[in-house]
Amino acid sequence: MIDYMFGNITLSIIKPDAVQKGYIFPILYKIGKAGFHIIAIKMTELSKKSATKFYAEHKKKLFFESLVKFMSSGPIVSVILKKENAVKDFRILIGETNPAHAKKGTIRNLYATSLEQNAIHGSDSNQNAIKECLFYFSNREIFL
Ligand code: GDP
Repeated sequence: MIDYMFGNITLSIIKPDAVQKGYIFPILYKIGKAGFHIIAIKMTELSKKSATKFYAEHKKKLFFESLVKFMSSGPIVSVILKKENAVKDFRILIGETNPAHAKKGTIRNLYATSLEQNAIHGSDSNQNAIKECLFYFSNREIFL
C-alpha cells in the first residue's frame, strides 16, 4: 500500500541519545519547518534482537555490537516522513554520519553526541525507505 509513495517517503528515528537529552520537540520542529509531513509516528524501544535485524547490513563492522547496544539502550521515536524527494532532502537536513563533519545547522551538527550517538537516522535509498517504514509500522498505522 505504501509502495506507490516510492521516492516520496523516508524513515527517520530519533535515537536514544537525543530522546534522553530532551531533543524530540526541537528535532520534530526542525523537520516540520523543512517541509516534511509526518504520516506515522511512534515512541518505542528496540530489543537487541530488533536492533540487530534493523542494522543487519552492518553486522560485519567492528562497531556493530556497540551500535546494537546503543540503539536498544532506551526509547526511540520512529517517524515516517512524506515530501517530494524525501530520502535525499532528509539526508541533507540531518547532515553527515559523523557530527564532526556535519554542516552547521544540520540536525546532527546541532544535536549529536558522537559518531555512534548521532541523534537521528534517515533512510539512505528509496528501496530501503519502504523496507524500513514497514519494519516499524503496519499499513494500518500509516496515514497517507
Ligand atoms: P548513516 O546512514 O549516516 O546513519 O550511517 P551508516 O549507515 O554508515 O551507519 C549506521 C549508524 O552506525 C550510524 O548512524 C552511527 O550511529 C553508527 N556508526 C557508523 N559508523 C560508525 C563507526 O565508525 N563507529 C561507531 N561506533 N558507530 C558508527
